[in-house]
Amino acid sequence: MDEFVAEERFANGQMCPRCGGVHIVCNGHRKDGTQRYMCKDCKRSFIATTNSIVAGTKKDLRVWEKYISCMMAGMPIRQTAETCGIHRNTAFYWRHKILDALQDRFGKVELDGIVEVDETFFTVSYKGDHKRSKVFSMPREVHKRGKAARLHGLSREKVCVPCAISRNGSSFARVANLGRISTNSLDEMFRGKITDGATLVTDKASAYIRFAENNGLKLVQLKSGVGNRGVYNVQRINSYHSKLKRFIRGFNGVSTKYLNNYLAWNNFVNCGKETVVEKQNILLRCALTAVMKLKCTEVSSRPPIPMLG
Ligand SMILES: [Zn+2]
Repeated sequence: MDEFVAEERFANGQMCPRCGGVHIVCNGHRKDGTQRYMCKDCKRSFIATTNSIVAGTKKDLRVWEKYISCMMAGMPIRQTAETCGIHRNTAFYWRHKILDALQDRFGKVELDGIVEVDETFFTVSYKGDHKRSKVFSMPREVHKRGKAARLHGLSREKVCVPCAISRNGSSFARVANLGRISTNSLDEMFRGKITDGATLVTDKASAYIRFAENNGLKLVQLKSGVGNRGVYNVQRINSYHSKLKRFIRGFNGVSTKYLNNYLAWNNFVNCGKETVVEKQNILLRCALTAVMKLKCTEVSSRPPIPMLG
């Protein structure tokens, strides 16, 4: 396991998993034979798996491979735990740590060419927040899962999720804000992700006009998101939205605090052009090599509504 992580992590040269420094020297071995390193920049020692998902887990590579294939199959937590011989809580933490790593990967995505952008909405869910937490108090009365929020339209009980997809299948989505989309949110979430020279195709929402102006992007706006103008249409983003909704429904209620993780998961599984086997390999490498400062037990302590800003 250590060798696998070392090989993957240090493929482009050794790097400190604490500070990112590249001035590394070998620093003896642990009692169990594990190679120790010393970072000359932060003066601390580390091993290949420091600040990774496998740090301190003592599970061999086969368990992780099995876990990843369960994930690719969309298997529920309980069944995954049984299949891999791990505790249900562990299966839950692993899911979100792996998806955190996937989110990191999508944070570096670049969308070019014709990019269709449109927002969709999810009713805010505090699922799982109030049971365990001593500090969380419900900001409103509980309504049962699946029931529509009481206020209609773009109420404050819905999070706005802008989504973008390019013609080659690169995609990006995340929770932006409550209610209607704002130009500020668009600026922040797509900063550095839409390349110069890209053409945005959106509906008539005014937030996109200012966003395109701010970022020097070409903009084609189509009436109510169903029209067609030459090569421009919004078929891809419409089909993206329906796949995303179906994907999320498959999980029996997703807590808003984890929604960004499921958005990254959907992008990876449903939009990426790689084969299933290629995706399994990417996910395994992505999961095992990502630098993770957050402990497993801290997974559930993220904010209930992960808004931008
Ligand atoms: Zn360092």
